[in-house]
Amino acid sequence: MKGHRLYIDGEWVLSDSEAFFDVVNPSTGLVIGRMSKAGADETKRAIDAAAEAYKKWSVTPPNERGAILRRAYELLMENKREIAEAMTLEQGKPLKEAEGEVAYAASFFEWYAEEAKRIYGETIPSWYMNKRIMVLRQPIGVVAAITPWNFPAAMVTRKIAPALAAGCTVVLKPATQTPITAVRIMALLEQAGLPKGVVNLVAGPANDIGEALMKDTRVKKLTFTGSTEVGKLLMQQAASTVKKVSLELGGHAPMVVFEDADLDKAVEGAIATKLRNCGQTCISTNRFYIQESISQEFIKRLAERLKTMKLGDGFEEDTDIGPLIDNKSYLKVKHHIEDALKKGAVLEYGGGLKHVGATENGGYFIEPTIISGICKDMIISTEETFGPVIPILTFKTEEEVILAANDTNYGLAAYLFTESLARSMRVSEALEFGIIGVNDGRPSTAQAPFGGMKESGIGREGGKYGLEEFLETKFISMAL
Ligand code: ADP
Repeated sequence: MKGHRLYIDGEWVLSDSEAFFDVVNPSTGLVIGRMSKAGADETKRAIDAAAEAYKKWSVTPPNERGAILRRAYELLMENKREIAEAMTLEQGKPLKEAEGEVAYAASFFEWYAEEAKRIYGETIPSWYMNKRIMVLRQPIGVVAAITPWNFPAAMVTRKIAPALAAGCTVVLKPATQTPITAVRIMALLEQAGLPKGVVNLVAGPANDIGEALMKDTRVKKLTFTGSTEVGKLLMQQAASTVKKVSLELGGHAPMVVFEDADLDKAVEGAIATKLRNCGQTCISTNRFYIQESISQEFIKRLAERLKTMKLGDGFEEDTDIGPLIDNKSYLKVKHHIEDALKKGAVLEYGGGLKHVGATENGGYFIEPTIISGICKDMIISTEETFGPVIPILTFKTEEEVILAANDTNYGLAAYLFTESLARSMRVSEALEFGIIGVNDGRPSTAQAPFGGMKESGIGREGGKYGLEEFLETKFISMAL
């Protein structure tokens, strides 16, 4: 079986131990590849390479950096199908969704290819007429990028593209479940002409690699997407050398459907936020607040729509929903459903838990499931489910639902459905979340700032805001 290699200083290398770890297809449980298993030593070498490459890359003209990013965009689009296939194989999402993700991933290169040229400084009028004040924006240095398995391509490019545009160099640690998509992206960056050492890839035990990255003083910035728990740990580790951090962590998104909403739009919004990637996205809705007078009709229409969706292997043409990533996820989702039903929730649709894989590691399919009668003591009310479960709550007034929606430690995304312009503005402003979808279940896009409030994170990714995270601000005071 083919063994994928680490990418360090422009070379495709094996780890010192020459050990590998298995990569599994979550749809079947079968091993589909092996990835070289790096540890602290390889990570240190990757940082050495990134630190050396930084000397030149940070002073490479922005238009030249932009041209390489543009080429990376083109290469990703030209190789869309092939990368999507690698992704479906290791992650399980339907191939059409994987292709959509590759295009989304590529759009970060497209956007930041342009943004590289627009890192403007400022001059500030001094109060002393013999002085001039200039503000420069400069790259922050070597970046550690740690990415999750749910978007194996887009989370990599959303971090790497702005970092490279800013003039930073990168050590990437992709999720252990999905390293192969990241390997493919590295190969395309190499093909795009990125100089050696500017990006490096190490994969393997997260603790060892994470610690090596966090304790190294040469790493100036951590950009992380993953669980709130690991984000907090990394933030603590980063504190010892005062690294700048951006963290995109968990969520517990509310979707509020008012009685003046277009219900068909709301149903499509619910499908988009909840069933994309089998509910395994940090902006997936976890609480569906439906105004009392329309809740039965909403459930009926949603259930009808769910009947048309097919659960299955991502490579089958008509599959809409793939498997969960692994056994741990499967058990968690199952537990959330069972806990709610035990505490009095009503099963409105679905509930089927299927294990059809070849081994105990795979084939973890969970039918889309609607449950109503949710109360606060159910785990699903407070914890992120990361699966295709739709918990329905009802409400009477706008004031009441705003309080309920904000009653969480998370603050990543929230959705509202209404045809009232005034209400959409009023409620958007009152919701304590970084991303608000108004009649929109798919707000993510390369041009906009993605990120959360409260324990959902720090910093933003995307748009001009995403670039800020990789820049230092320097002020020069010049006495004439
Ligand atoms: P999930 O529960 O969705 O897998 P994690 O936060 O565990 O989310 O994983 C997100 C990323 O963080 C992955 O690349 C994972 O390998 C990495 N990771 C997990 N634990 C650590 C750690 N202790 N130090 C550094 N990275 C970690």
